[in-house]
Amino acid sequence: MFGLIGHLTSLEHAQSVANELGYPEYADQGLDFWCSAPPQIVDTITVTSITGQKIEGRYVESCFLPEMLATRRIKAATRKILNAMAHAQKHGINITALGGFSSIIFETFNLQQIKQIRNLKLEFERFTTGNTHTAYILCRQVEQAAPKLGIELSKATVAVCGATGDIGSAVCRWLNAKTNVAELLLIARDKERLQDLQSELGRGKIMNLEEALPQADIVVWVASMPKGVEIDPSTLKQPCLLIDGGYPKNLATQVQHPEIYVLNGGIVEHSLDIEWKIMKIVNMDVPGRQLFACFAESMLLEFEKLYTNFSWGRNQITVEKMEQIGEISVKHGFRPLMSFWC
Ligand code: NDP
Repeated sequence: MFGLIGHLTSLEHAQSVANELGYPEYADQGLDFWCSAPPQIVDTITVTSITGQKIEGRYVESCFLPEMLATRRIKAATRKILNAMAHAQKHGINITALGGFSSIIFETFNLQQIKQIRNLKLEFERFTTGNTHTAYILCRQVEQAAPKLGIELSKATVAVCGATGDIGSAVCRWLNAKTNVAELLLIARDKERLQDLQSELGRGKIMNLEEALPQADIVVWVASMPKGVEIDPSTLKQPCLLIDGGYPKNLATQVQHPEIYVLNGGIVEHSLDIEWKIMKIVNMDVPGRQLFACFAESMLLEFEKLYTNFSWGRNQITVEKMEQIGEISVKHGFRPLMSFWC
């Protein structure tokens, strides 16, 4: 059995879907109430591969909300993730993906040091961040969407916002090794980490966001921001492809411009309907088939009986591992989401 540990994008979102999640009593409660809510299994999932194989899974709602980080409720945030992991393990789940901020919290606050949760010893090999599959899907979205918009990768400048992160660095490694993109712009706040990445890649220009945006033909957004940024579409190139892989979204602006194309990043579409209700709650356009690539990673590991933390730690994702998870993804009928809005 596979598992997905998820969370909602804001307190407002959580309050609006509390009923559907099975928490009617939380609908008008504030952040403190959510801070004390225990994890809960809120969905039972059946996925069928195009090979015919069928697997079962569970969705664990951690009750973490990004506002907990924004308001420095760090203890509550870390407790949410560890308790959700313990809950998944207690329910016999073999491999569970740590969705959205769950893996970021795990890494940032060094939670691997805390193995004992009450009477349960966490077995970390039962968990994966899902970031290898997410990075692979984002790269395939770049490769497949650019030509549709008349953007030639060999002439294109690609900006990666969140370049030094686990997903961002993997995207940079792939674009560097597997494509002939003309220029890579590396965006994040910590300059030392940016310089380390630049040395590793042997290329890439370090820039701030304001400087980079007007130069980019493609922007891959994978920064861990609790709230999205406002951008002025008139400062962007035309055409420009914006692939937003953040959860919550990195783009606060609903860009509406004929030559600016926005793609939901790190999202896959399955070839067959998945039996679940949760993707409706996180507002997927086709909730029966579309899902976060990190969640799909735990499904893929379950299909292949690869009970190992395939994606773990920070900045360790190799191009070879991205190719490996990519092959399994195609084999079982997942493909990168390709519907733009503009
Ligand atoms: P990491 O924490 O490993 O990396 C985050 C990156 O963002 C770092 O480079 C960080 O560098 C940068 N960053 C953070 N804040 C800012 C800012 N204000 N301006 C510019 N750069 C910033 O995160 P992950 O790589 O694990 O995740 C990245 C995003 O992808 C998150 O939003 C996450 O929720 C989402 N995600 C999506 C998935 C999917 O399936 N679609 C799966 C998993 C994650 P610095 O701190 O130096 O600025």
